[in-house]
Amino acid sequence: MGITKKAFGQTKDGKAADIYTLTNANGMRMRVTNYGGIVTSLKVPDKKGKMGDVTLGYNTLAEYIEATPYFGALIGRYGNRIAKGKFTLDGKEYTLVTNNGPNHLHGGTKGFDKVVWDVVEEIETDDAVGLKLHYVSADMEEGYPGKLDVTVTYLLTNDNEWKIKYEATTDKATVLNLTQHAYWSLAGEGTEDILGHQLQLFADRYTPVDQGLIPTGELAPVAGGPMDFTKPHRIGERIAQVPGGYDHNFVLRSGGKKMAMAAKVYEETSGRVMEVYTDQPGIQFYAGNFLDGTLVGKAGKPYQKHYGFCLETQHFPESPNKPQFPSTVLRPGERYQTQTVYKFSTK
Ligand code: BGC
Repeated sequence: MGITKKAFGQTKDGKAADIYTLTNANGMRMRVTNYGGIVTSLKVPDKKGKMGDVTLGYNTLAEYIEATPYFGALIGRYGNRIAKGKFTLDGKEYTLVTNNGPNHLHGGTKGFDKVVWDVVEEIETDDAVGLKLHYVSADMEEGYPGKLDVTVTYLLTNDNEWKIKYEATTDKATVLNLTQHAYWSLAGEGTEDILGHQLQLFADRYTPVDQGLIPTGELAPVAGGPMDFTKPHRIGERIAQVPGGYDHNFVLRSGGKKMAMAAKVYEETSGRVMEVYTDQPGIQFYAGNFLDGTLVGKAGKPYQKHYGFCLETQHFPESPNKPQFPSTVLRPGERYQTQTVYKFSTK
């Protein structure tokens, strides 16, 4: 067990970033950089006990700075899309940076995935190793009101879990939706597409989207169609029936009120199982539809279409403009506190 730290390079504006290696008592190993809170690698045992890297990413900081579809990154202030980058809060209209066609995606052009976080604590207990990351986002950064003080804690436990705790406070009313954008491939990153993985989602409804991937506001039942993962299905089984592939927010059965299992994924050849637990009301299931082989990963292999999938626990996209969705407003005096766990095992 333990934590080691090395220099990882500098950002274009001269900020130094480090890379940490966290190892738990079972030899499971996570690499994290404080640039974007990015998890660059996660080595998990397969059914024979052999370690394999199950998350997509790069070896160098320069590659992350150059081009990344948010591999392994912390997302803020708002995970996923806000239509036209506009919302009204307490009677005042705010305009965010738009970076996804006419819309705002994942916090803007310089979201939390592209800033250097302070590592305020290295955690080593009997049960886990971890890092506490801290960032203060200035009032009106990327268009968001309020000076936001954010702490994200990553723990790698001896139960082979990656626990993420998000905490934040603000000095003005604002909207907030933090998440983690790891891309998974349980067979091992860069080896094959993820269409054979079996996925179960504990969601009876999802939020249908328009052509710009903005939720229409409707909560539609999944029953009977390709969105129905209430029982396990291979990701590729019905993906052709979904225009563009899976890139949808699912409405979790738990209602986002307490920690509950949100998703379970199984990959047969490796025997690896990943369970996702969260206290959030939604989960974005993205099947890596926009990967196209142009980005080359850690092992020197191009990431082709569907070579990774994301399960981003979250509030629903577009919530600031959809009063019927659970609220994402954070006010002064309140404390934003949420948790997500990715738990690994084999069968
Ligand atoms: C979004 C996708 C987007 C991807 C990478 C996901 O969270 O839902 O539409 O392409 O992130 O940018």
